[in-house]
Amino acid sequence: MNIDTVVKDKLIVFLKKWWLFVLFFGVLFTNLLAVNASAFFETCYSSTIYPVITQILTHLTNWMPFSLTEVLVIALMAFGLIGIVLAILRKWQFKKFIALLIQLLALIYVCFYLFWGFNYYRLPITKRMDLPAVAIDSTMFRMTLSQVLDEANAAYVPIRNLDKDQIDHAIERGFKRVAQQLNLDLPGGLRNPKTLLFNIFLDKTLTSGFFSPITHELHINKSLLFVEYPFTLAHEKSHQMGIANEAEANFLAYLVCLASGDPAAQYSARMEVLGEFLGRGRRILSDYADFRARIAPGIVADFRAINQRWRRHQGAVSKVSSQAYDRYLKANRISEGIKNYRGVVEMVIRWKTGADGEMEIENPASEK
Ligand SMILES: [Zn+2]
Repeated sequence: MNIDTVVKDKLIVFLKKWWLFVLFFGVLFTNLLAVNASAFFETCYSSTIYPVITQILTHLTNWMPFSLTEVLVIALMAFGLIGIVLAILRKWQFKKFIALLIQLLALIYVCFYLFWGFNYYRLPITKRMDLPAVAIDSTMFRMTLSQVLDEANAAYVPIRNLDKDQIDHAIERGFKRVAQQLNLDLPGGLRNPKTLLFNIFLDKTLTSGFFSPITHELHINKSLLFVEYPFTLAHEKSHQMGIANEAEANFLAYLVCLASGDPAAQYSARMEVLGEFLGRGRRILSDYADFRARIAPGIVADFRAINQRWRRHQGAVSKVSSQAYDRYLKANRISEGIKNYRGVVEMVIRWKTGADGEMEIENPASEK
């Protein structure tokens, strides 16, 4: 037996035993070295490997009538609880339980980044769309707020009923149009929204919906009002399209809803974006009340209904979960943390300042 064969055999034995930790440290070091490497992640992950991953994963999980994510979370919690009880009763060695738990957590960490999380490091959508860089001063903000406000007023439709399949088709159509017109590479895959058995988890954490980075399922909170549904659906679908940044997911959802050709989806997006603009206006404009007075009564009623729904669930759980999400975003190089959602305001201003503006998106060719 020559030395090469001995080394090879030893390496195989080592990898068989330690493959998870090799992967874990590989992912960990990639994360640590990921600073200023967005072009690399864009080329070598987001536009090449990721589309294949999401095709495979969505085909594996989309057909399931339940949320695999929910099943896995419950199984993990049950494993933790049963493990602790068995360890206390000395029916299971505590060391073995902890070792297994660490392996499971390492596996989740590895899958999270390999399956989706590296999208946090890709090129910003503003760069991929070549949006003009503009210095946003208060005059420009005021002007765009006024425009966004008029557009929302004009788009207002009372949504008393919603055909969710129809909205789903309209949004998928919107994604196709946006991808074609803006030359954006958006990956394929299946994205039927799912709901949770324990929807209370979403209510209590004030979550409208979420995309699961490991199973690639998207979930929508059952308690959403009709007016919130289309925009939330488009936002979660944007995450499946490889958009990790929350502001970018909001911005893409806005464009997609406008391009969907569906009046309910268009109003839903205009209202949500107006909400973000008003939030900023309230903080920085001395004449905010003048803008506030111009909002159509129907939209005011919708804002009020949404606020009431959220307020019902505000409490200790929502506080802790929002702090946790803030830390999570910061750990993934989103320096502004939970305020990242608000970044959609800058993007909309830049979009509206752009040469071909939103006219093209709003009046798409009437393809079927
Ligand atoms: Zn999101």
